[in-house]
Amino acid sequence: MPEPAQAANDESGDILLEVRNLKKYFPIEKGFFRSVQGYVKAVDDVSFTIREGETFGLVGESGSGKTTLGRCIVRAIESTDGQIFFRLPDGESVDLASLEKSDLRNVRKYFHMIFQDPYSSLDPRMSVLEIIAEPIRNNKLLSESRQIQDRVRELMDKVGLDIQHLNRYPHAFSGGQRQRIGIARSLAPSPSLIVCDEAVSALDVSIQAQILNLLEDLQEEFNLTFLFIAHDLSVVEHISDRVGVMYVGKLVELADTESLFSNPRHPYSEALLSAVPTTDPEVKMDRIILTGEVANPADPPSGCYFHPRCRYAQDICAQETPPWKEISARHFAACHFAEELELRGVGPER
Ligand code: SF4
Repeated sequence: MPEPAQAANDESGDILLEVRNLKKYFPIEKGFFRSVQGYVKAVDDVSFTIREGETFGLVGESGSGKTTLGRCIVRAIESTDGQIFFRLPDGESVDLASLEKSDLRNVRKYFHMIFQDPYSSLDPRMSVLEIIAEPIRNNKLLSESRQIQDRVRELMDKVGLDIQHLNRYPHAFSGGQRQRIGIARSLAPSPSLIVCDEAVSALDVSIQAQILNLLEDLQEEFNLTFLFIAHDLSVVEHISDRVGVMYVGKLVELADTESLFSNPRHPYSEALLSAVPTTDPEVKMDRIILTGEVANPADPPSGCYFHPRCRYAQDICAQETPPWKEISARHFAACHFAEELELRGVGPER
């Protein structure tokens, strides 16, 4: 593994993934000749690491860049700049961002992305057998039909699907069952990293809990590492070891889950946490309503991107970009007043 990037986060444990200064800029083309007039900076200089066996939650409002970041990591889209170091099972580290397509083909089996919508992420013309077998065949992991069928049955059983339904098509399954099919497919080539992009957002609350429990069980059994992208902080709190908060393409806070939820150090995190529902009638809901729109990533404000919406903003906030600094052990934030502000978190009593 190469030298770690900026002090973006914790360095202990075996690092499976290191994202270093990653950028994804989408050009804005205008006019008859489609000349480039500017860029939408969807991901702007983001660095963090994920340890083996860890669940790293990534949160932020719609448009924060979290999904784009996940898609860059699995090379569903090309990043503009930066590096994505990924440790292969043999210990060798490769930079996914710069890997040639031919080499990428050989390592794709080690990471996978699960999508939000279990209705549209499965090909309706393929049976469950074909859907789950596809990555096995594509990666030439097994060749004989009998072996492939046995492996598909094994995976269906692991994710709680009835193996009798091997030849059914996606429309015959409920939303939760379809997400289980997607999870079985992602497990087929025995990956080490799974990027879950809003993987339970489209499901009913009771089904969400079942899928989250399944992911946790599978993580323990197969030593999986998750990058869990979600806007629902309750879900992220439940499943994550550490959490990163994104705002307009940048990481603004990163900490162990307990630390971030109980003691946020960035006003944006505080506002997001104030919207987490509580089941305790004694706990008074005092939601912080963010005024104004999320900043435009094509034309962000000066200084701290959050300053037009921040109730703690001072003059310096519009003038200078706040530095990324470690506020306490393993707790990082980018706010000029991260050490001083008395921000409200959510307690363990919820
Ligand atoms: Fe708010 Fe200023 Fe901190 Fe930005 S730097 S989050 S505007 S207090």
